[in-house]
Amino acid sequence: MEKLVSITYEGELEVIARHTLDFENTETGGDLFGFWTKDSMPIIKYVTGPGKNTSRSATSFFQDIPYLHQCGHYFHDNFALEHIGSWHSHHKLGIEKPSEGDINTMRNCLLNKGIERFFIAICVINNRKEVTINGFLFSNEFVNIHKQTNWIILPNESPFRKQIDNNTRFIVHPNTKKSIYKVVMENNSNCDNKINTSEKVELPNDSFFSTEAGRKFLKQEYEKISSRIDCTDVELIQNDDQTIGISFKLDGKEIEIRYPVDFSEKNPNPVIIEKNDKNETKRHLIAVEPVKMYFISTFDIFSDIFRLIFISKNDDKNDSITNINID
Ligand SMILES: [Zn+2]
Repeated sequence: MEKLVSITYEGELEVIARHTLDFENTETGGDLFGFWTKDSMPIIKYVTGPGKNTSRSATSFFQDIPYLHQCGHYFHDNFALEHIGSWHSHHKLGIEKPSEGDINTMRNCLLNKGIERFFIAICVINNRKEVTINGFLFSNEFVNIHKQTNWIILPNESPFRKQIDNNTRFIVHPNTKKSIYKVVMENNSNCDNKINTSEKVELPNDSFFSTEAGRKFLKQEYEKISSRIDCTDVELIQNDDQTIGISFKLDGKEIEIRYPVDFSEKNPNPVIIEKNDKNETKRHLIAVEPVKMYFISTFDIFSDIFRLIFISKNDDKNDSITNINID
């Protein structure tokens, strides 16, 4: 299968995240300039944000077209950079993918403007003010004309960043000075889309995980955790009591999301096991209302209460219960 990646620098992703955080409750966006690899994957060398005359609302963003042209001409004439894509924010809407509207706009572009490929990045802001940046390649070759890409992030700043910023006065820079961003990272090339297991894991018969929905859920969870830059050593494990878990390291802690034997849509209550550096373990029981599994991610639930759990003062207590309701 064709492997889709978008390539850019840490610094450029940070610029996108900073622009995104300038507008927490409305859409904003900008454009992406660079080249295409020989496999037609985007290499983003310089990103811009919104021009001064953009129009925006909670659900729409229209770039200032004269600004886009001014940037495009300058980058092309001086550096031969091409306009290869754009980005926009779905701020706190939680929609990490292109909307139907975005897809229709792109469908028209690809059809009517003779563009072969275009890259779109979509940003969302979570409740910890972290920005997730997801990349999508648009082409008529794809079913539903788009596919999500992994990222390859080159260290530090794009060499074009200083050059352009020091020599121009028309570029609009973000007001936000610092940001934390997350992207879906390129995994080890040999474990593309597969679950990493150190030992053989047998999904217990007549458990939720022996059903198709259960396997799909587990794979999604595993991929979600693997794609995070802050989670390392992600492994699917089987404990002595046959329970399945996903273990990983986060913030120097060893964490396991363990699924009890009767884990199911009727009983979606994982246990978070936390090992500290003294090898002591703490168990946090998470009570979730019965729900269709494809609506939830135990990792997201864990992530949302992460601070609550680890910053909670009652350290003497080894078990805690957190109730989560999903609307
Ligand atoms: Zn959109």
